[in-house]
Amino acid sequence: MSPISRTIESTDLETIVSLAKRRGFVFQASEIYGGLGSTWDYGPLGVELKRNVKDMWWKSMVRDRDDIVGLDSAILQSPEVWMASGHVENFSDPLVECGGCHRRFRADHVGDKCPYCGESKFSEPRQFNLLFKTFMGPVEDEAAVVYLRPETAQGIFINFDNVQTTTRKRIPFGIAQIGKSFRNEVTPGNFIFRTREFEQMEMEYFCKPGSDEEWHRYWIDFSDDWFKKFGIRGEKLRIREHEADELPHYSKGSADIEYEFPWGWGELETISNRTDFDLKAHIKRSGRDLSYFDDAAKERFVPYVVEPAMGADRSALAFMADAYDEEGEGKEKRTVLHFHPDIAPVAVAVLPLSRNEKLAPKAREVYDLVRASFNAQFDDTQSIGRRYRRQDEIGTPLCVTVDFQTVEEDNAVTIRDRDTMVQVRVPIDGLKAALEDQIDKLREACHG
Ligand code: ATP
Repeated sequence: MSPISRTIESTDLETIVSLAKRRGFVFQASEIYGGLGSTWDYGPLGVELKRNVKDMWWKSMVRDRDDIVGLDSAILQSPEVWMASGHVENFSDPLVECGGCHRRFRADHVGDKCPYCGESKFSEPRQFNLLFKTFMGPVEDEAAVVYLRPETAQGIFINFDNVQTTTRKRIPFGIAQIGKSFRNEVTPGNFIFRTREFEQMEMEYFCKPGSDEEWHRYWIDFSDDWFKKFGIRGEKLRIREHEADELPHYSKGSADIEYEFPWGWGELETISNRTDFDLKAHIKRSGRDLSYFDDAAKERFVPYVVEPAMGADRSALAFMADAYDEEGEGKEKRTVLHFHPDIAPVAVAVLPLSRNEKLAPKAREVYDLVRASFNAQFDDTQSIGRRYRRQDEIGTPLCVTVDFQTVEEDNAVTIRDRDTMVQVRVPIDGLKAALEDQIDKLREACHG
């Protein structure tokens, strides 16, 4: 159990979608034109939330480690890349059409009855390729076809030699990348869980054949711990090993980290043992040598690859759903998001007791001090009680309040804790240290 308890165990997806819209986390894309199927725009709070998710991943993967480096490869690559990787031929889902309403579904998602009309007759499944195609240059013919990448991983494989020779990394080492991927999903849905344009956080870990299974275990445990470290409750996570018949074409073994979403268990991340499938495929098609020479053992080999592949949007949704709580009754009722302080879109809010000339200069001074070290927000509208509720609802861990005593007597402010609602008074001189201390404690308390 997480030390930060929840009053309600979970909520429904509608509640999250409506909070996301009301408070500016996520909006329907192209809303003023009636929307575009399953595309979403991240608002001011959503962009901070998703950025924090990506930053924490990057820090854990790249900045805090010596054995992983970063890359930002192009979304558009030569079509040869996707031919070599097998995506042009194999990257498809089984599609069925309902005999009643003629809607189309992924055969492995739809169940026995059409969710729209209840009909139980479906067409025979046919394979539907998920690659998005477009044209490069002014002529729209077959020779100009390029694909929007369906995963960031291939950009890493094709740069293996560039990165290895420029960084002089020795195996085992990894290359990490965060970026947009595109898949023409048959049945997108569940808000930002399954969309056609999404962001992935992927890391390819190159290791010696024979050590791959050990590294696979290592990265499964690492990934599970990562979500817990940033506040997802352990009891809402599970690890699911893939059955042999669901393994992707490149994988020797895969495990999913799943989260119990409002509608049931859903995949957040897959950790796959991709073997030497991709490097060998590119060696074969490009004619370039992507093998590795091990100086110590004096042997040359094509590395095996273990890949943790995570979705930034799905993770952001899991962080929101997991943080959600409703507490109290009647006038005391509040909605609160118990975000981990490194995930919360706003870490500290500075709130003058009221909008008042006497308080304003001091409040701005405190805000400048706070924003230099924390992602901060200033709010002086409406009553202080309402502003606390607003900050609770967007998951701001700490609120700093500047009142008349601050300017007239003690040059001190109060810090209010989101979860306990306890307030402590601290001198402005010691405010930064006090906030850091409270955030540190909260980091520990949030560990799921
Ligand atoms: P699924 O089985 O849900 O279609 P997948 O197994 O095909 O997903 P991977 O290829 O393993 O997904 O991609 C790695 C990660 O990228 C997933 O765990 C998920 O978090 C994210 N992801 C994949 N497809 C989508 C999508 N359509 N929308 C949002 N995120 C996605």
